Amino acid sequence: MSSKDWIEKDFYAVLGVDKAASADDIKKAYRKVARESHPDHNPGDPKAEERFKAASEAYNVLSDTGRRREYDEMRSLFGSGAFRRNARGGGQAGGTPFDVSDMFGGGGGDRRFGGTGFQDLFSSIFTGGQAGGQAAPRGPARGRDVETEVALDFSDAVRGVTLPLTLRAPGVCETCHGNGAKPGTQPQTCPVCHGAGVTTRNQGSFSFSEPCRNCQGVGTVVEEKCPECHGSGGVTKTRTMNVRFPAGVADGQRIRLAGRGEPGERGGPAGDLFVHVKVRPDELFGRTGDDLTLTVPVTFAEAVLGTDLRVPTLDGAVTLRVPPGTPSGRVLRARGKGVVRRDGQAGDLLVTLDVVVPARLSDEARTALEAFAEQSPPAAREHLDARVRRVG
Ligand SMILES: [Zn+2]
Ligand SMILES: [Zn+2]
Repeated sequence: MSSKDWIEKDFYAVLGVDKAASADDIKKAYRKVARESHPDHNPGDPKAEERFKAASEAYNVLSDTGRRREYDEMRSLFGSGAFRRNARGGGQAGGTPFDVSDMFGGGGGDRRFGGTGFQDLFSSIFTGGQAGGQAAPRGPARGRDVETEVALDFSDAVRGVTLPLTLRAPGVCETCHGNGAKPGTQPQTCPVCHGAGVTTRNQGSFSFSEPCRNCQGVGTVVEEKCPECHGSGGVTKTRTMNVRFPAGVADGQRIRLAGRGEPGERGGPAGDLFVHVKVRPDELFGRTGDDLTLTVPVTFAEAVLGTDLRVPTLDGAVTLRVPPGTPSGRVLRARGKGVVRRDGQAGDLLVTLDVVVPARLSDEARTALEAFAEQSPPAAREHLDARVRRVG
């Protein structure tokens, strides 16, 4: 019996028992089916005969602890049908699309289409020793969460913006219905694994099953490739949706849009969409929480004598009074000119004054400055002079 048979046959269903059935229950169930369908009691009934054979086959495997465990493992690896996207006409388990790279990529976490990650299955087999485990759920499955990144302009992030977001997700090629073969041709049975999609390797007393490398576990190989998907069976599908970014969204923030991820399967709910927000820096404004920041150069004379400054905000301009005797680095506050928060209140615009020192002066300015220096009080650095005397 080939492993392919094991993948395709549900021996528990044949005997009408639960996967967790005890050896005793299996024996009883088999005897019952065998009695009912025995050819002696059903002469000339091919269906009964088929049922009788199937039951014997099932019992053969399930009555042997070792073989039952192997069967359970294989079914848990491939039984979901997610694997067999070739599936001769797409019948098997709905021909769920499956990205083979997920299995070998070693990424582990990628649970495309809600299927169970390959790595997880392997580790449950080799570490737990628990035969079987849970097969992939057949009921409604929640759609996959999708993550994407978006870059917003500074002012859009401050004010809020609605943007069309285009998402790319793997989907089934419609030209070949996912089997990867050129229309009019069929995938051929893989010569290495003879269609099982799996190869078995014996090592000491263990035998390892692994996906066939020749066909990547599909069980078939494509000779004439589908021109649309180049034989992969999958294409990238795009969908576009409008996403509202609230006012005040910040760089590095992650926005969750419930139910905007990939659609669920078999009536399950859709996954969520997570949008990582990058905010492009503005050439003028910085941002600290809800406050915007701006640095304004002023002359020494403006700082000393005081002045009125016209400064830009994100909307319009405001006049800020610089009082006489304002030191360099002083922060002036334009109230309510920052980021509008959810509660409708706004942060402030914080204006830092930067007294600039001219690199060059005209002769007249130099003369005037020298005259000023003679009249100006010295800088207050006696405390430093005292220390200089002590350490110097
Ligand atoms: Zn193969
Ligand atoms: Zn195709």
